[in-house]
Amino acid sequence: MKFVADGMLGKLARWLRLAGHDVTYIGDLRVPASEQDDVLLELAKLERRVLLTCDLVLHRRAKRVGIRSAYVESNDVVGQLVEVSKRCGRRIRIEPENSRCPMCNGQLKLAGKSEVKDIVPATVLKAQREFWRCGNCGKIYWHGTHWKTILEMASRYNRMVG
Ligand SMILES: [Zn+2]
Repeated sequence: MKFVADGMLGKLARWLRLAGHDVTYIGDLRVPASEQDDVLLELAKLERRVLLTCDLVLHRRAKRVGIRSAYVESNDVVGQLVEVSKRCGRRIRIEPENSRCPMCNGQLKLAGKSEVKDIVPATVLKAQREFWRCGNCGKIYWHGTHWKTILEMASRYNRMVG
């Protein structure tokens, strides 16, 4: 699913990307605060993205003009994922194997050791077998400690969403 997230939902946006979803986060774009609501609605409409917002007024505005919108109330990112699942009427899937770059939403591609050897620390190069490179910003990822966090979050979410 494709989403566009408001300025309060940066953490949710990064998690959804790690979970394999295409998320535009307004905080990544250089949009003045006064224009953010209009840009959010425009992106949702033009790119057929589900609006994620914790602003009830904006949520209602989106609904009035026929834009799909999920109103998010929880402060906890797993709780937010559960809410989005419920509000979208279908379960948000967590597919770490399809992760997108949490920083820029670019698609990750498997990269060989030889491609990353000058970039990642030697200890990491030795310890890890698989690396991914962001096709957009070039950042390199591997299954570090954050991987465990992702898997833990996924299992907590799966239990909550039932
Ligand atoms: Zn990136």
